[in-house]
Amino acid sequence: EEADRLPDELVPTHCCFCGVQCGMHLRVTDGQVTGVEPRDFPHNRGKLCPKGVVAYQQVNHSDRLTYPMIRRGGKGSRLERASWDEALDYVVARWREIQARHGRDAVAVYSGSSMTNEKCYLVGKFARVALGTRHVDYNGRLCMSSAAVAYARAFGIDRAPLPMTDIPLADCLLVVGSNVAECFPVMMQWLWRARDKGASLIVLDPRETATARTADLWLPVRPGTDIAVLNAMLRQIVHDGLVDEEYIQRRTVGWEAVREVVERYTPELAERISGVPAERIVAAARLYGRAPTSLVMHARGIEHSTHGVDNCLACINLALARGQVGKPGGGSMMLTGQGNGQGGREVGQKANQLPGYRHIDVPEDREYIARVWGIPVEEMPWEGAAATEMVGLMAKGEIKSCLVICSNLMVSLPNVEVVGRALRNLDPLVVIDFFMSETAEQADVVLPGSVWCEDEGTTTNLEGRVVKLNRAADPPGEARRDVDIIIDLARRLGRGEFFRYSSTRDIWDELRVATRGGVSDYYGITWEKIESQGGVFWPCPSEDHPGTPRLFTERFGHPDGRARFHPVEYTPPAEEPGGAYPLRLTTGRVVYHYLSGNQTRRLGFLRSQAPEPWVEIHPQVAERLGITDGERVRVRTPRGSMELRVLVVPTIRPDTIFIPFHYGHEQAVNQLTNPAVEPTVKIPEYKVCAAAVERLDSP
Ligand code: SF4
Repeated sequence: EEADRLPDELVPTHCCFCGVQCGMHLRVTDGQVTGVEPRDFPHNRGKLCPKGVVAYQQVNHSDRLTYPMIRRGGKGSRLERASWDEALDYVVARWREIQARHGRDAVAVYSGSSMTNEKCYLVGKFARVALGTRHVDYNGRLCMSSAAVAYARAFGIDRAPLPMTDIPLADCLLVVGSNVAECFPVMMQWLWRARDKGASLIVLDPRETATARTADLWLPVRPGTDIAVLNAMLRQIVHDGLVDEEYIQRRTVGWEAVREVVERYTPELAERISGVPAERIVAAARLYGRAPTSLVMHARGIEHSTHGVDNCLACINLALARGQVGKPGGGSMMLTGQGNGQGGREVGQKANQLPGYRHIDVPEDREYIARVWGIPVEEMPWEGAAATEMVGLMAKGEIKSCLVICSNLMVSLPNVEVVGRALRNLDPLVVIDFFMSETAEQADVVLPGSVWCEDEGTTTNLEGRVVKLNRAADPPGEARRDVDIIIDLARRLGRGEFFRYSSTRDIWDELRVATRGGVSDYYGITWEKIESQGGVFWPCPSEDHPGTPRLFTERFGHPDGRARFHPVEYTPPAEEPGGAYPLRLTTGRVVYHYLSGNQTRRLGFLRSQAPEPWVEIHPQVAERLGITDGERVRVRTPRGSMELRVLVVPTIRPDTIFIPFHYGHEQAVNQLTNPAVEPTVKIPEYKVCAAAVERLDSP
C-alpha cells in the first residue's frame, strides 16, 4: 500500500553520478525522498542508467553521518560525538594557531567536482577570502585536467564544442579511451541514433569494452601508446588527400609543423609501438577521413597519462585537419566524467583559477574578482599547489591542516600508501562528507554534510549546459548543508561580512557576476531561464541571450579567431613493463559505481552487481601462469601488491591487465598505480604502469 501511494510532490532535478546529468524527478512523500520517476529532459529523454535509478537511496541510508565528530584524545583515539559549536570552534582555533605560527598557506582546501557550481564557487572564495591560503585545488585535477588544457590551447576555450544531441549528425564516431556504454550509459542513445542512420564507429582502447564490441573497427592499443596510432591515422589522411586544406588555411594556425611530425609515423612504426595492426590503422584512417562529418570523442583512457595533454591534442589535430570543428555533429568532444566536472573547473576552486576561467596570476583578473568579493587585491593569494602536489607538501609538513570536502583521497589518489602517511601528518584533517569515506576515517574532525538532493543550485554538464538541481529533503539528524557549514566556518574565522547570503540563489547571482566577461560567462543564466529552456549553454553574456550550444561555428576563442595545431610526438609512459613486472596495468570505471565508490558501494543493487574489484587477464596470460577463471591471485607493481579474483577474458590485450578503481582499503587499486604526473597539469598516470600477476601459492 505504501509503495502504491502517490507522492506528495515530484521534484525535478538531475542525477548526481556522471557528467551527463540526466534529468529526473524525485518522489517526495511526507518530506522524505522515496523514489525516482522519469523526466523528459532534452539530453536523456526520460532515461536513466542503473546508478541513476537508485541514486536517491543515498538520502535515507542508514550510513548517513548525522552529527559532528572529533578525536578528543588526539591521533589514535576514537572519533567522538561533538556539538557543532565544539567542532567548528576547535577547527577554527587550530587554523588560527597554525596560520599565526606557520603562515596562511599552512592550511589547505581540497575539494571536489561532484558539487553544485554554487558550492564549488564558495569553496574557492572561502579558501582565498576566509582562510587567505593559496592552496586550494580539487579532484578534477585527477579527472580531465589534461583535456581542459588541450582545449584551451587548441581552441582558446575549454568546453566540448557541441551538444550531445548533435551526435546523430556524425557519419563517423571515433571513440578514443572511453567506454561510453559503461561510463556515460544514457549518452549511448545518441551514438545509437548516429549508428541507426549509418554512422560508423571506431574504438581505440586496450580492452574490447561494451562500447568497442559494437564498433566497426576496434583498435586494441597498448596502454600509453595512443599518440602513435593517432599520428599514423593523420599521416594516412594526408597521404590519401583527405585533409581539408581550405579550412586549415582559413581557420587554423600551425598545420605545417604537425604535417611534418606525423609524416614519420608510418602505420608499420605505429604498429610496433602500439601493437595495433598497421592495416587496421589504415582502415580506421580511411573510415574516419572519408566521412563527411566525423566526431572524435575521448575521455580518461588518454587523459590519465603523463602525456595526457598531448594525447588530447593528437585527437584535436585529426579533427582540425578534417575541417570538422565548429560543424554540427563534427569535431572533437571531451567526455567529462564527474557530475559537475565541467562547472567545477570553471568557477574558481582550482589552484590557478578564479571564477569564469580567470587566471589567478593575471592582474586584471585578480582585480576584477577582488572587486566582486569586496577585498583589496593585495589580499588575493597567488597560485597554489595542484591537488597531486599537496600530498608532497603535507608529507613535508608545509601544509599542516586541510579541509577536505566531497573528495576521497584515500581511494582516488595514486600510491595511496604514501597519501595515508601524508594525511596522518595533518592536525587537524577536517572532512565534510555525508558517508564515512576512507578519508573521513582518518580525519580528526568529521562534519556531516548534505547529499545532492538536499542541496539547491546548478551544475554544468559535459556539454557545457547549465542545469538546475532542486532541493527535495533536509539533511538528516544534525547534518547540515555544505554551504551552511562553509559559511559558518567563514563567520567564525571573522570573515562573515564577505559571506552574507540569504539563500543559495544569492551565491548564484554573485557567481554570475564573477564570471561576467570571462571565458565561461554565466552572467545571462538565470534560474528561470534554466528551467524554461531545459538548461542553458555558456557563454551566455546577457539575460536576453539564449546561450551557446555550438562553439566555434565562426571563430575560435583565441584573439585571432583561429584554432591552433600542436605537433605531438610519442614518448613512452613513465613506467614500462620489464623484468619482474612484465605486464601493463590499466584502471577504469564499471557501470555500477561512481568515482571512489563511497556513494555507490553502499547502495544494495549496485553493491550486489559489483561487490569487489577483480583483475581482468587474457587467456594466454592465464595459461602461461596456470591461473583459472575465478581464482584469487596477487597483482604486484613496484609500489605494492593486492589480492583479487581473476576474470579471464579474451577482450583484453595479452600484455595488459585491468582493475576497476572504485574500492577502498586493501581493495584499492591505487595502492598499485604510479604517482608520476603530466608535467604541466599534474594529472597522474592511472592508465598504465608495470605490473605482475602471480598465483597466491607462488613464493
Ligand atoms: Fe546518472 Fe550518468 Fe547514469 Fe545519467 S548516465 S543516470 S547522469 S550516472
